[in-house]
Amino acid sequence: MKYFTQEEIDFIKNNYKKMTLRKMDKILGRDYRTIWTKLKREGITGNVHRKKTIRYKKVPSPYPELEGDCWICISHHKESNLYGYPMIHRNGKHYSLHRYAYERYYKKEIPKGIGVLHHCDRPSCINPDHLFLGTQKDNSQDMIKKGRDNCWGNKNKKEEITANI
Ligand SMILES: [Zn+2]
Repeated sequence: MKYFTQEEIDFIKNNYKKMTLRKMDKILGRDYRTIWTKLKREGITGNVHRKKTIRYKKVPSPYPELEGDCWICISHHKESNLYGYPMIHRNGKHYSLHRYAYERYYKKEIPKGIGVLHHCDRPSCINPDHLFLGTQKDNSQDMIKKGRDNCWGNKNKKEEITANI
């Protein structure tokens, strides 16, 4: 077995968190199992990036007017962000899974400042039919339309309480 050069070792150390072993294998021309052994020898065993297949289960949608089931992601739910959106790691970047699903399915990039919103209000749903593009304003209006204006309601309530005190 050929020894790893210092450059190769640096490359592996810098990239093991954002690249799969197989991808490093392709770039370095080294067997991914050898890379894995090297990482272990360097004392790195956790956090090695693995490409996860997106798996989901179908669940009836909450709104009768919505066509099709919700595809609730069951493979990436642990990596959800602050807002409860499952996250996915691809090509060294983090994406919200529903955003990623939208881009992949409709084969177009989402412009900056535009969000991918859910008709079904389920953050972990990735059914492309339930996703639509919109701004933050659209999202608020959609929420009000569906009677989900709780966050604003709560805020007003707090203000009311403060005023009463
Ligand atoms: Zn849905």
